[in-house]
Amino acid sequence: MNIFISNQKLNDLASKTGISEVGATTAEPLAYMLERLEIRISENRLTPFEEHNPSLRISPVALLDSCRSIITIAIPYSGPEAPVPQSEDLPRGQVARCARAVDYHLLVEFKAGQLVRALKQEYGASFNHRILTDRSPLLERELALRSGLGIIGENCTLINCRYGSYTALGTILLDMDVEPTGIGVETAGCKGCGKCLEACPTGALTAPFIINPQLCLSYLSQASGVYPRDLRAVAGNRLYGCDRCQEVCPHNEGVKPSPLPETAFSLFPAKPLLIPLLSITQREFDLTIGLTSAGWRGKTTLQRNAIIALGNSKSEAAVKPLARLLENDPRPVIRAQAAWALGRIGGQRARFTLGKSLRYDQNPAVKIEAEQALT
Ligand code: SF4
Ligand code: SF4
Repeated sequence: MNIFISNQKLNDLASKTGISEVGATTAEPLAYMLERLEIRISENRLTPFEEHNPSLRISPVALLDSCRSIITIAIPYSGPEAPVPQSEDLPRGQVARCARAVDYHLLVEFKAGQLVRALKQEYGASFNHRILTDRSPLLERELALRSGLGIIGENCTLINCRYGSYTALGTILLDMDVEPTGIGVETAGCKGCGKCLEACPTGALTAPFIINPQLCLSYLSQASGVYPRDLRAVAGNRLYGCDRCQEVCPHNEGVKPSPLPETAFSLFPAKPLLIPLLSITQREFDLTIGLTSAGWRGKTTLQRNAIIALGNSKSEAAVKPLARLLENDPRPVIRAQAAWALGRIGGQRARFTLGKSLRYDQNPAVKIEAEQALT
C-alpha cells in the first residue's frame, strides 16, 4: 500500500493504546546475523525451542511476503516486589519477573492488536499485517535494536532506556511504509562492566554477548525431563527462570515499574511456598500458573523444579511430601527428582524411602537416582 506513517503519527497512535516503547524499521533482512547464527548452530548454542533454519530467522518477508516495514514494541512487565509473608518458616521458590503476571505473549499480542486496530481506523483496513512474539522464528531483539528500542547488553538482553531489560518484545510486520526510528549500535550504552558475567551462577555467559543455553538456569527451568545432575545444586530455589544477570545490571537500577495494569496482578507469586506445588491439581495449575508465561511447559516441569528447589532447601518439612511422591507418583521424572532431593536432605525417613525405591521401583532411571542418593 502506498501509505507513509511518520514517527510522530506512530508514537501518537501507540500512546493512545498504552504503548510507550515503540519503534519502526524496514523489512530488510538481518543479513549480518546469518554468520552469527551459523556459528551458534556449529557450537550447539541453539535451544530446541528456537527455529534452526537461519534464513527464516533473518528474513521478515519469509513470514509476510508483502512486508515493507516492521513496527517493534517493548512491553514493560516489572512491578514493585510484593512483601513475602514472614509468618512461617517453610521453603519458598523464586519466580522470574516475566512469569508472575498474565502471560506476556498474550499481553504483547493484545497491545500489538490494539495498535493495528488504531492503524486500520486511521488508514483503512486494507493493509496486511502479522503480529509476532518471541515464539516466532524472527530475531525480534535484533529488530528492536535496529529500530532504536534499546541496546543489547553483554547479558544478551535488550536494554530499554526507561524500563531496563524487564520488557517483553513484540513485532508487527506490515505492508505499509513506516518511517524508521533509531539506528542501533550493538555495544553503545552497555556499560561493559562485566557484572552480569561475574554474577551468572553457572558461567552460562561464556563471553560478552555469548550465552550457552545448556548452562543457563532460565532455559533449564523450561526444558522438560530430568534436570542435569551437575547443575541441580546451583539451581538453588529457582522455580522458573533466572533474573540474576539482569538484577546486577546497572541499567536495571531504579527502573520505572510497568504502568500497565495487566502486569500488576500476580498469578504466580515472586516467592511461592514450594510444598503445596507438589500436590497442585491440574485445575488449580490451569487457573494460576497456567495463565502466566511459566505455564507453557506444563505442571510436571514446574513440579520437577519445585522438587529440585526443595532438595536444595534441605528442609525437614519436605521429606514427607517428597517420600510420598517417590512412593506413589506415576511419573518417572518426578520420582527420579524426588529421589535426588531426598538424598540431598538426608535423614532416616528419607533413607528408608530411598531404600524401598531402590528395591521395588520398576523404572531403571529412578533406581539409579535412588542408589546415587543413598551413596
Ligand atoms: S539467566 Fe541466570 S543462568 Fe542464564 S545467563 Fe543469566 S544469570 Fe546465567
Ligand atoms: S551488567 Fe554491565 S556488562 Fe552486563 S549488560 Fe549490564 S551494563 Fe552491560
